[in-house]
Amino acid sequence: MTAPEVVILGAGVMGASTAWHLARRGVRDILLLDRGAAPGAGSTARATGGFRAQFATEINVRLSLLSRAKLRSFANDTGVDPGYAPYGYLWLATTAQELAALTEARRVQHAAGLAEAVEVTPDDIRLLNPAVSLDGIVGGAWCPTDGFVAPLALLAGFLAGAERLGVRVRWGAEIERLELETHGRAVAVRTTTERIPCGTVVNALGAWAARPMEGTGFALPVTPLRRQVAPTVPTDVLPAAMPMTIFVGDGFHLRVRDDRVLLLWPTPGAPGRPFDDAVDDDWVQGVVAKAHTRVPALRAIPVDRPACWAGLYEITPDKHAVLGPTPGVPNLYLINGSSGHGVMHAPALGQLLSEIICDGKTSSLDVRPLRPERFVERDLNPVSELL
Ligand SMILES: Cc1cc2nc3c(=O)[nH]c(=O)nc-3n(C[C@H](O)[C@H](O)[C@H](O)COP(=O)(O)OP(=O)(O)OC[C@H]3O[C@@H](n4cnc5c(N)ncnc54)[C@H](O)[C@@H]3O)c2cc1C
Repeated sequence: MTAPEVVILGAGVMGASTAWHLARRGVRDILLLDRGAAPGAGSTARATGGFRAQFATEINVRLSLLSRAKLRSFANDTGVDPGYAPYGYLWLATTAQELAALTEARRVQHAAGLAEAVEVTPDDIRLLNPAVSLDGIVGGAWCPTDGFVAPLALLAGFLAGAERLGVRVRWGAEIERLELETHGRAVAVRTTTERIPCGTVVNALGAWAARPMEGTGFALPVTPLRRQVAPTVPTDVLPAAMPMTIFVGDGFHLRVRDDRVLLLWPTPGAPGRPFDDAVDDDWVQGVVAKAHTRVPALRAIPVDRPACWAGLYEITPDKHAVLGPTPGVPNLYLINGSSGHGVMHAPALGQLLSEIICDGKTSSLDVRPLRPERFVERDLNPVSELL
């Protein structure tokens, strides 16, 4: 078999975005591999679809702004509506310290060009989301251009667009490892059934990205972290256009999607079982108790326990993505570790990786903060536990 020019490992939103952007740049002979039987086998299908530019670091704000511009042309570019709905993100603070963190993040956001992010008072919050109890709320932050996207529509658009441009997608292909030359180039991808020679490889394996890196000399620090979601039964108790509403203190948040209210609350994963994506009854009880206190209208609306789901975030030590060539293996590129923001950032990251692969550098955005070497150099991005 002749070597495909580019083999992309993983056909989630990152792999699909990379394939489409490379094909648009004129790269021919791209092969996308995924072990799933169909699109959506990984985290992309589990995402709730939040989109925001209110982050605490310049690089994440800028990734969102680039993604947002691309979402606006996505239907034209791919023929699929990405479901971008700017219903806003509303952050709620219960202490002066939380409010100060929001203020500091907003300074970064404004400097990066997100002018419409503002501070809000409890009176503003009452208008923006009347369903939320203002008990203990001292203020918050609001950005009207944040909101939602449809994760599977983004994936479908990138995949369909890529296939129209000649990208081949092979489902049911379980990747086992990479074959390297002694002087540090990837020469083939080994699946359970075949050896696929390659010119260039892209690792877009989401929460599972670390394992195939064994033997490359670079320990990719991406670990899985379970995130659970509790949907209510179908209800119109809250409006479809309600903003994403997030409590800074414990990360509890809620949104309306497909006529249900989705309740979320970040907790540590299952101890000792990093890839476990079962939903815990205790967690469901906990998130429901929070919802009942904070959004009294939900006391009358039961959670749909069989419809609860969980999935895996792909976490890095500084909770920022990893983008670029692998140290020591220059034809193995990484697009990993978005740490829970991968759907919203995939349009930007796919474009940026195509620039790196085709031009040797990015032109749309300075992505130095995302370089893989930072973990070796111990030059990590600041981690905000709040946003
Ligand atoms: C509950 C939840 C809510 C989320 N909410 C949001 C949100 O609101 N906004 C947002 O932006 N992000 C959100 N995310 C994060 C988002 O889902 C991820 O960041 C994003 O989907 C990562 O995309 P990916 O393509 O890297 O990974 P994936 O979609 O996981 O794709 C990786 C692919 O690799 C394949 N694969 C893995 N191992 C192998 C192997 N050995 N061989 C072959 N194929 C393999 C998998 O089948 C999969 O299709 C959420 C995640 C979860 C779990």
